[in-house]
Amino acid sequence: MSKRMAATVAPSPLIISDTTLRDGAQMPGVHFSIDDKVAIAQALETAGVDVIEAGFPAGGAGEIEAVRQVAAATTRPLVMALCRAVSADVDAAWQALGDTPAERRGVGVFLATSPLHRRHKLGKTKAQCLAMIASAVAYARERFARVTFGCEDGSRTEPAFLREAYVAAMDAGATAIGFPDTVGVLTPETARRRIAMLVRLAHPRGVKVRAHFHNDLGLATANTLAAIAAGADIVHLTVGGIGERAGNAALEETVMALTLHPGQYRRTIGVDTTRLTALCRLVAECAGYTLPPNKAVTGANVFATAAGVHQDGLLKHPDTYLPFRPELV
Ligand code: MN
Repeated sequence: MSKRMAATVAPSPLIISDTTLRDGAQMPGVHFSIDDKVAIAQALETAGVDVIEAGFPAGGAGEIEAVRQVAAATTRPLVMALCRAVSADVDAAWQALGDTPAERRGVGVFLATSPLHRRHKLGKTKAQCLAMIASAVAYARERFARVTFGCEDGSRTEPAFLREAYVAAMDAGATAIGFPDTVGVLTPETARRRIAMLVRLAHPRGVKVRAHFHNDLGLATANTLAAIAAGADIVHLTVGGIGERAGNAALEETVMALTLHPGQYRRTIGVDTTRLTALCRLVAECAGYTLPPNKAVTGANVFATAAGVHQDGLLKHPDTYLPFRPELV
């Protein structure tokens, strides 16, 4: 798109979907109690997050109860539950969300599609995977109006099979498709190309595209911004970027990049930036870790410097050595 065209396109809404309570909770050493999950969910709602992925109900009775309580303790965000591509998982999600108003609940169904996962984890052929996707998505759509289908390890799946898998999901009624970089190997350039391909596949059918990126190369936020530039409708983020291994794309980093560069991304978001620091502190406290002082956006040092020349500049005008004012976060 040319600069002139970009300037005339009205900003479109970007859906901020937080998965701190599901993928974030997969961080080693983290155990959120149900009370922690409810407190975090309420803080996410206050901050203006659109969607909360609350858990994995097939994980057991405790997980079902946590998802149920998160939905009951919030009033506005859509509450999503994660399911493998089997009917029992959808049944567990229904136990958790059956009492939640229909417009506030949904499920994310996933199946691993990469050659590594098909061969070594699932022991399934491509045809068997496609059949599982179609039947699980159709089953989920009998109960839930919103069903996202994601190809686990999508970034290491052959592009032709990726398209087949998403077409099978959309034909079965998926209302959104999720593209996870499960092991965090994408770069901004490859993220942009894959998301652009999926946008071309999904948008003509009225299906939304969701990006879910891991931080193994320290690129999760950059990749998420590339996905947004390529037309992604929904981004999956965690507070503080917590998650297994190197974590997920960070909510506060993505939100601040979009806030600082509205003309570049042309997307509107509902998140209140002044809530970000409190949100990061709450999640760190519940997760039992200390925020690194140099953590982007919300670390203790992000408005501080020990360089004399920079201190002199800051005293003369705060904007000389700050990207944004502290009161914004
Ligand atoms: Mn993940």
